[in-house]
Amino acid sequence: MIPAYLTIDDIPSKLTPSIVDFLNKKKIEPVMFCWCERVQYFRENAIYALKHGILIQNHSLTHPHFSELTLEQAIEEIEKAEEILEALYKDAGVKRPYKLFRFPFGDKGGKNEAALQEYLKEHGFTQLDHSNILPAEYEKGGVQKNQGDGYDTKWTFDYAEWQVRPNTGFTVEDSISKANVRFGSPYGDAPDCGAAPEGTKAEQLILIHDHEETEAMYKGYFETLINALLMRGIRFVKPVARK
Ligand SMILES: [Zn+2]
Repeated sequence: MIPAYLTIDDIPSKLTPSIVDFLNKKKIEPVMFCWCERVQYFRENAIYALKHGILIQNHSLTHPHFSELTLEQAIEEIEKAEEILEALYKDAGVKRPYKLFRFPFGDKGGKNEAALQEYLKEHGFTQLDHSNILPAEYEKGGVQKNQGDGYDTKWTFDYAEWQVRPNTGFTVEDSISKANVRFGSPYGDAPDCGAAPEGTKAEQLILIHDHEETEAMYKGYFETLINALLMRGIRFVKPVARK
């Protein structure tokens, strides 16, 4: 068994409720990172996730490359997204237990990186408890050396299924091969056994996206990719914040 957190970026979309239903059925609790300008189109779907026990966190307003922004613009991206998130939680009648932020594209802001980390710290952002995630696992996930620390949320494995687009030549099968290389061939575990026992600590932080464009290329991609991880012995754990 490989314990892991599941994180889902770029919600909400028209797919979000079906993702929520699938994960609830599997007893898997993810963290969803919100591309907040999209809430104006799919507000009810974000509320649906919250009402079904799923955490939604900050992934900026317009999903920019933070290294291309001034510090003021970068902070505005985070703050405007916070306003939208607060309103969502209020409307859903759900309390947000802690605050997480994930940089779009893992772009930590270039020359403003240190200032943005300071901003996140001062404004109460934390990370998931990653005390069992080895720094080398972040490096395998493409996150730079020593970047596991700080106040933003990274990942150790990106399925990269966002590359499944017309004319890229990258397929959902290529995403599954990526998981094979990373986690080995199928263990043959029961695929409907979705979550690790309460209190188990995450050793991996897995990233997958909520993208209608991927669904258009491969119907049911989300379920296929989650089932592929379960077959490889990944067991998802409940998200908890770092102490
Ligand atoms: Zn994103």
